[in-house]
Amino acid sequence: MSDFVISATTRLFALLGDPVSHSASPRLYNAAFRAARLDAAYAALRCASDDVPGLVRGLARAGGGGNVTVPHKAVAAAALEEPAAAVDRTGACNTFWLEDGRIRGDNTDVAGFAAAATRLVPSLAGARVLLLGAGGAARAVVAALLDAPAERVLLRNRTRARADALLADIDAGAARGRLALAASDAALRHERFDLVVNATSLGLHPGDPLPLRLQTLGGADAVLDLAYSPSETPLVIAARALGIPAADGKEMLVAQAEAAFERWWGRRPPEGVMRAALG
Ligand code: NAP
Repeated sequence: MSDFVISATTRLFALLGDPVSHSASPRLYNAAFRAARLDAAYAALRCASDDVPGLVRGLARAGGGGNVTVPHKAVAAAALEEPAAAVDRTGACNTFWLEDGRIRGDNTDVAGFAAAATRLVPSLAGARVLLLGAGGAARAVVAALLDAPAERVLLRNRTRARADALLADIDAGAARGRLALAASDAALRHERFDLVVNATSLGLHPGDPLPLRLQTLGGADAVLDLAYSPSETPLVIAARALGIPAADGKEMLVAQAEAAFERWWGRRPPEGVMRAALG
């Protein structure tokens, strides 16, 4: 549909965040909208936190919707009228829309992580996982791992207080005996993992240090780095050099975007279009 034009009937979707200029989302969604022959357009809006509730309400009530990225996911969660269970569990909303007159929201990072991880490991059920990081993305990863359910999740974060806060917010019943903190890298020395997940911000920029030296672990069968860049991330390069299967965050980015498309339109996007648009 190369003759697509934005008109008076076009439904508008937007990414809300700061910064947003680096985002691949407009490329992914506009490709999917065109392939599905939808009269819809997607833009990226750099905005302040105070403006997020108004933008969420305005875009949704005008017949569109959108996504939310750093640092606005918690503010967006608070602006919803019908948060999905994943929003309540993680305190974060990355997707919003209008349904039955109510502003709904979900955190599709939870489903996106599970989809990307199961391309690397046979199953998350019963898996032993090392999770690096305790920010917003780590919360989505923990929710997916407890759902699976993983056998054991060890959480390692630079700042202890942030990891403690994550643990305090997790449903104690679901996590009992399965989620624990690693106080230092040294504590991981003899541990074996089915999967190592990097949910720190390290890896986004060329020259970033590794979040962990994989050689210091007892063993790792697979590595999933949530960071992504046009070239491979330093952690993915390091893992493959050790013969460990590894992937960066592109698969998760596509999977969470496909899930968001499905929330808005009630059907899957055309197969492979978003992945191809990412390049
Ligand atoms: P966030 O809430 O800001 O959390 C950042 C995390 O990184 C914290 O645990 C922080 O530890 C850690 N960190 C930052 N700088 C560090 C350093 N120099 N050394 C060690 N740890 C450091 O960010 P987020 O939203 O969770 O995002 C984290 C990463 O996931 C980003 O790279 C983001 O792009 C990626 N992500 C990818 C997808 C995808 O679809 N692929 C989806 C969501 C997020 P402290 O607590 O010590 O500060």
